Amino acid sequence: MENQAKKKNWFVAVNGKSILPRLGGAGFIVFEGLDGSGQSTQAAKLVEYLNRPSKKFKLGRPEAHLTKEPTNNLIGGLIRGQLTRNWKTGPECLQLLFAADRAHHLEKEIMPLLEREVIVVSDRYFFSTIAYGSLEISDWQWLKDINRHFPLPDLSIFLKASPKICLERIKQNRFEMELFEKEEALAKIWQGYERLAKEFENVHIIDGERTIEEIFDEIKKIVYAKFNLGK
Ligand code: ADP
Repeated sequence: MENQAKKKNWFVAVNGKSILPRLGGAGFIVFEGLDGSGQSTQAAKLVEYLNRPSKKFKLGRPEAHLTKEPTNNLIGGLIRGQLTRNWKTGPECLQLLFAADRAHHLEKEIMPLLEREVIVVSDRYFFSTIAYGSLEISDWQWLKDINRHFPLPDLSIFLKASPKICLERIKQNRFEMELFEKEEALAKIWQGYERLAKEFENVHIIDGERTIEEIFDEIKKIVYAKFNLGK
């Protein structure tokens, strides 16, 4: 019963309106984009920055927590097995696993932290699975529907970098290419992200082809303005 009451406060993502009550300094921020666009780099930098000791925060510094999808729990492990071709399942099953992993992630990690007024920063969220899923599943509405009960982040930052640049970055750093890491496929996936940016609120698309520090400066400004963190 209590759970039911809580769930009522959850954002129904497809309606495009956040009804998650904002508690103090809490906020939910996600980083999205193509593989190699720099999400992990920027998400980690932001959390490190928010957690740095600082005299600027008179009421105590904000506490920030870094997380990612797919998660490291059981369901996330199944998803990673599929992405690295160790295990095979169909596209619908994969999407449902992503959604199940997300439901668990929200219940066990994200929501309890938000309730404790921690800023939660996630490296990927439902935008990624819809954009990537749309390559193999043409039913866009279904891809959205299976995420319908999940809260919309307060801020979603989409890093825009061309497939060519993303692939160059990936090649330099990874031994194995995952599924989807092809230029043409990535271009199509990016179109999905652009569509999502129009369909949901609180999305910022930013230029991810600059230096890591230039991108981070812009992110800091957006985050500070959004959460009234001051200079
Ligand atoms: P993603 O999480 O989006 O897949 P990563 O943050 O893991 O991407 O970055 C992929 C690689 O590209 C990493 O080696 C990272 O150091 C590098 N990288 C990230 N951002 C930039 C950038 N703005 N310019 C150049 N290289 C970058």
